[in-house]
Amino acid sequence: MAAKTHFWKSKTLHEMSRDEWESLCDGCGRCCLQKLEDEDTGNVFYTDVVCQYFDEDKCSCTVYKDRHKHVPACIWLQPDDLSQIDWLPGTCAYKLVYEGNDLPEWHPLISGTKETVHAAQISIKNKVISELLVPEEDWEDHIIDNL
Ligand code: SF4
Ligand code: SF4
Repeated sequence: MAAKTHFWKSKTLHEMSRDEWESLCDGCGRCCLQKLEDEDTGNVFYTDVVCQYFDEDKCSCTVYKDRHKHVPACIWLQPDDLSQIDWLPGTCAYKLVYEGNDLPEWHPLISGTKETVHAAQISIKNKVISELLVPEEDWEDHIIDNL
């Protein structure tokens, strides 16, 4: 019997069901980090300052269903966005699949558990500080370069 092909290899992003699309997110939380953009170059820099609605213990959003009410600028990623957004981290499954790459071994769809995202040091758990504790003018001091 032929081996089953994973959906992220056999389907385009547009062909995926809602559940398949959602399951691509590894829950790393990296897109919940505050970012700064260089006005001259357009380069985007990540900081270790995280959205106030991010629960670091659970490594998840506390207001996910209503997140756009709380944070209008919060990303609601759609397949068509991948060609427009260049700031997603290189580990993001949506970016990986969009660029024709396979998922890494620590991805929950491969490993079967979200714990591997923490073990591989991909998630932001225990590495960030809430935006409630850092004034925006100080975010520049929190730029990180290891994403
Ligand atoms: S960076 Fe990508 S994989 Fe990680 S939480 Fe955000 S959308 Fe999900
Ligand atoms: S509202 Fe939720 S999903 Fe959006 S940036 Fe904040 S923690 Fe992340």
